[in-house]
Amino acid sequence: MINILIVEDDITIAEALVFALENSGFKCKWFTTGGEALNHFEHNDVDLVLLDIGLPDIDGFDVLRIIRKQSNTPVIILTARSESEDQVLALEGHEADDYIVKESGSDSPRIIIAKIKALLRRSKPEVKKNNSVFSFNEALQQLSFRGEVLTLTPAECKILTHLVKNPNRIFTRQVLLSVIHDGPIGSDITTINTHIKSIRKALAKIEKGSKYITTHRGLGYSLVL
Ligand code: CA
Repeated sequence: MINILIVEDDITIAEALVFALENSGFKCKWFTTGGEALNHFEHNDVDLVLLDIGLPDIDGFDVLRIIRKQSNTPVIILTARSESEDQVLALEGHEADDYIVKESGSDSPRIIIAKIKALLRRSKPEVKKNNSVFSFNEALQQLSFRGEVLTLTPAECKILTHLVKNPNRIFTRQVLLSVIHDGPIGSDITTINTHIKSIRKALAKIEKGSKYITTHRGLGYSLVL
């Protein structure tokens, strides 16, 4: 489920947006003030933000600035027709991903949904939620840790990606071996110990004493996030 955060103090516009987005299968959370929206953003999983500029408490661009300090979550600015030209100019320096001129016509929600879908296609990170610690570049098959690309063998990369995608779950050596091998699994599950050792080393190179991978005696390994 895609979570959309809507920040808009015009109830008519917001209700029309929520209606159209929920009909298209998105999950919406709507706030009328920047303060409430930021509080929600900081404590919840948000995939995309629709942000009005004229808000009752904080300027929408300030909301965007605070969001950008902590995340690259796509943000679409909602601007009123009369102010659109200024807003488009203002967008340049504010790292918004797109903007939409609010109109009362029935086409408006349809355009917004099309823009949301296009943005999500471009920006969806493979490893969600944990992207502050680990991120995965699908195209290059590279894992980054704390923003630095990890030097791993393909097998190590597969194991760590599996753990990152399923944090706080214990995997046996047998299961981790099946993650590396597409074909029949050999009996030498102790190779997993060697891989885990190398992965720990690679993580420690970037963050000294990092303890993300936990050994569960007699069971296997988990990644604690
Ligand atoms: Ca407004």
